[in-house]
Amino acid sequence: MPKPSQKVVALVCAAGVGSRMGLSVPKQYMKLGSRPMLVHTVRALSAVERISDLVVVVSPTDAYIDEVIPLLPANVRVLRCGGRERAESVVNGLVAAGFPGDAWVLVHDAARPCLRPGEAGQLIDAVLTDETVSGGILASPVADTVKRTDENRRIVETVPRKALWRAATPQMFRVRELIEALSGDLIGITDEASAMERLGRPVRIVQGRTTNIKVTEPADALLASLILGDTAVVPVRVGQGYDSHRLVEGRPLILGGVTVPFELGLDGHSDSDVLLHAVTDAVLGAAALGDIGQHFPPSDPKWKGADSRILLEAVVALAADKGWKVVNCDATVVAERPKIGPHMPAIRASVARCLGVSEDVVNVKAKTNEKMDAVGRLEGMMAQAVVLMARTEA
Ligand code: MG
Repeated sequence: MPKPSQKVVALVCAAGVGSRMGLSVPKQYMKLGSRPMLVHTVRALSAVERISDLVVVVSPTDAYIDEVIPLLPANVRVLRCGGRERAESVVNGLVAAGFPGDAWVLVHDAARPCLRPGEAGQLIDAVLTDETVSGGILASPVADTVKRTDENRRIVETVPRKALWRAATPQMFRVRELIEALSGDLIGITDEASAMERLGRPVRIVQGRTTNIKVTEPADALLASLILGDTAVVPVRVGQGYDSHRLVEGRPLILGGVTVPFELGLDGHSDSDVLLHAVTDAVLGAAALGDIGQHFPPSDPKWKGADSRILLEAVVALAADKGWKVVNCDATVVAERPKIGPHMPAIRASVARCLGVSEDVVNVKAKTNEKMDAVGRLEGMMAQAVVLMARTEA
């Protein structure tokens, strides 16, 4: 008897419509970062060395795949033979692909874009080296306590979870055996493995990573983007700000919105609050909204003598409008004189009020410049700030 083939191929099922996501495009085409979900999924599988042939099954009426094909690895074949049910799509795809009946096929779901090539490789190794099984699937242990209920949602039983697994994909079987299993009665069949189990074929579990999630709900898409390391969706941003003003006679000294008694004051178009200007630029920086001069040009008479608290509040509102809120702020004022320490509680409270946050997330430090340079000679003051902001919506 000839030795059975150890050829390994793969099929990505992308014929669904993903109605649960409430999207205008089928979910396999929604963008995760810069690429459609399907591209992430196919690239992960195509990076698995053992897989010699990879096909993607889409619906014959799919209007989006043509735009995505240039983003797929060149050796991937797209087959427009999807059916109404997943099983039908898989069978049609296996037949249309012309895979040898005794080849091994990994069937993978387009909605699992976070698969790591390494875990697919472990599945392949495990199945190829275990002669007692007809195939295998990636799965992860159930971590939650599982309850069974009656029709009134009263708990009937706590199901021991020790032997429970969450089935994922890829799922790996011989092509011919899988076609046979999926061609029978499909009532209660929710994955390829369950069809094989029904025929009494032994299927083994290979523990995969819990990050191989199925994108079903909008929140899953955000999580998937994070798992894929898409920095555009990282929900925090940092911003930095710097400002300096000259010290002159005949002007009040205003720091963080607080008037500090001193014989000199900061010169400039507005109230010249060097600390609030640095903080304002840090907020604008975190939200990628430019700088203070763009929003409040010194050439505009409207801002002459302006209260910088109002400018900062306006910028915080602008950032909020873009979906960013302040997490915390840390700032440093560099001033040779006067001593700022006694005024610090008031300054900190004032900055917090402008930022719309509590005082315990605001820190302001004061330093001298050790008599060095212009600041050290009392010609001016400078301030620096960093602000962390968090996304307010998914
Ligand atoms: Mg300024």
